[in-house]
Amino acid sequence: MVPRMIVGLAMTAAAFFFAGRRSLLLYRLGRAGQPVEPGRIAIGARAWADLGEVLGQRKLFRWPMPGLAHAFVFWGFLVLALTLVEGYGALFQRDFHLPVIGRATWLGFTEDLFVLLTMVGIVAFARLRLWDRPAATGRRSRFFGSHLGAAWLVLFMVFNVLWSLLLYRGAQVNTGNFPFADGAFLSEAVARVLRPLGRTANDLIETAGLLLALGIVLAFLVLVVHSKHLHIFTAPLNVAFSRRPRALGALLPVYCAGEPVDFSDPGDDDRIGRGAIEDFTWKGLLDFATCTECGRCQSQCPAWNTGKPLSPKLLVMGLRDHALAQAPYLLADDRDAGARRPLVGKGGVVEPDVLWSCTTCGACVEQCPVDIEHVDHIVDMRRYQVLVEGAFPAEAAVMLRNLEHAGDPWGRGARERLAWTVGLPFEVPVVEGRIPDDVEYLFWVGCAGALDSRGQRTTQAVAELLHEAGVGFAILGGAETCTGDPARRIGNEYLFQTLAQSNVDTLTAAGARKVVATCAHCFNTLANEYPQLGGRYEVVHHTQLLARLVAEGRLVPVAPVDATVTYHDPCYLGRHNRVFAPPRDILAHVPGARLAELPRSREQSFCCGAGGARMWMDEPIGTRINENRTDEVLAQRPDLVTAACPYCVVMLADGVALRQQQGRAGADVEVTDVAEVLLRSVRAPAVPVAAASEPGGPQR
Ligand code: SF4
Ligand code: SF4
Repeated sequence: MVPRMIVGLAMTAAAFFFAGRRSLLLYRLGRAGQPVEPGRIAIGARAWADLGEVLGQRKLFRWPMPGLAHAFVFWGFLVLALTLVEGYGALFQRDFHLPVIGRATWLGFTEDLFVLLTMVGIVAFARLRLWDRPAATGRRSRFFGSHLGAAWLVLFMVFNVLWSLLLYRGAQVNTGNFPFADGAFLSEAVARVLRPLGRTANDLIETAGLLLALGIVLAFLVLVVHSKHLHIFTAPLNVAFSRRPRALGALLPVYCAGEPVDFSDPGDDDRIGRGAIEDFTWKGLLDFATCTECGRCQSQCPAWNTGKPLSPKLLVMGLRDHALAQAPYLLADDRDAGARRPLVGKGGVVEPDVLWSCTTCGACVEQCPVDIEHVDHIVDMRRYQVLVEGAFPAEAAVMLRNLEHAGDPWGRGARERLAWTVGLPFEVPVVEGRIPDDVEYLFWVGCAGALDSRGQRTTQAVAELLHEAGVGFAILGGAETCTGDPARRIGNEYLFQTLAQSNVDTLTAAGARKVVATCAHCFNTLANEYPQLGGRYEVVHHTQLLARLVAEGRLVPVAPVDATVTYHDPCYLGRHNRVFAPPRDILAHVPGARLAELPRSREQSFCCGAGGARMWMDEPIGTRINENRTDEVLAQRPDLVTAACPYCVVMLADGVALRQQQGRAGADVEVTDVAEVLLRSVRAPAVPVAAASEPGGPQR
């Protein structure tokens, strides 16, 4: 009794010393981060988040098999923590049992059941890792770049914990020290195997098994705090302190030391964006420490899937490794001491091509089971590069200059913003002063909707449908400028603030209350980001409004559009804002239209490649994202390709035009907005789709 108590306590003291030393370092490293923005720490919402995502494993279950395997192991750890308490108790008293419930049959059964389920879980994990080996599948493996050796070691250690636990419990049954008379079916099975060895051997096996089980658990504890399995402890915290409802939709304003930076009068010491690892908040550092290296983000990333160097997983892992490497410097009294590796730059922690490959599509954030906020970190690093270093892709400079001088990315200017109204069979009211009382919606046309030829057709279609339904609407005409979305997402927060404030002032002066937008990016910015500048409106996307008008019978699609139709979910409408049903509802009401869902749709939609200001940057590395998406679309053999955002329509039309030039069979299809399909059905006699499609590529 005494020797096993001494050995058990000595092992525990040693493990706690090494794990504690490491935990203290990690804690101090986290404390070295900047404060978070106000409002992030709200305990009630956090507890709910943890219940659903951590205890309920909500996000993990999106991938059923790996999700179930993880849930078995996770729940197994929770239940088997009780056996750890029993084991420590048995160091002091061999027939120890938990108070109150300690001898209940159901407890013995539950503990053994979770030994079994955890074993099933680790076998499933092993199977997954063998099936999706980077050595066999290369970049397509979600584990590409993950620390696979550590993952295998952990599986092996869990396996060892399980069998040593059963060994100890089985021997306990034979020595009469087992707390349960019934229910522990696995322990009893092991006991039957050990029984012929006799009492003395079972005494020895009981002690050896107990010390072995405790020793492996303690070694596991030390390993966990030194490896990616740290997420066992940090994931509940990371989920609890993540942005709610999710780190999608709005970007955060620029914060310095927990306070928003006033771009009209920035302080001398204000740090803009993230230019060094210590510029990240403690939540950012916690994000990096929490990555499980599962690769779910990587598997969905359009940049990674088209051969770019950006993998959200590898980005986060690189920042974590850098933070740890910088720990001595960050925790030193003299922070200026020591050579620094640049955060972004050639030979830096993040290569420029990695940073600028991101489309801010949010697929990584959507997938991450531990709520890491990749897009926020990427944009924060871009902000530093653009506003402090002046380092960004040269092609984007033209777009930024145009935004500054003309208020739109193409530099066409205010005078051309009314061109789309020419030729409409009714007059489109332009707001002068206050919005008249008979006008229900301010129609936010957007730069592409006003200035791009394809966007103009969508704008005309929406205007005609609103007119047909008797919805009063008006436009700002030349008083509208870019919402600032591309400026914000490329990292030029100063320019975003300038454009956005000007628009908010215009909308406020006009007395706007309800706004309808056709561009998914405008919709997102107006609805989610203008409130940061005091602009609060009821913003709807045109598909939401049109679907409602159809449902209310104010628009009646009657003419058949006999076509197989695909629908591409724009990232900023779907994933960022959860608008999935309205475009599908519209298509469902169009007689003859048959929706062919794309394999990657709704939350898992694949980006068109235009977001994050990528629309105005070259794409020289890998294959083009829009071609990847176009091939997926064409594989459905559609007659009509639809989207609900002018950016997506342009990118898909570009892809279709290229495939047409290459002579691909089935590429002779029209790319259009859902609104145009509805208009065709509401107003026109049946038009064969082939006759409605036009030759040639889109206009950029
Ligand atoms: S936002 Fe999209 S493109 Fe950017 S890292 Fe995440 S998945 Fe990749
Ligand atoms: S960032 Fe999230 S999704 Fe990506 S590997 Fe890490 S834990 Fe997995």
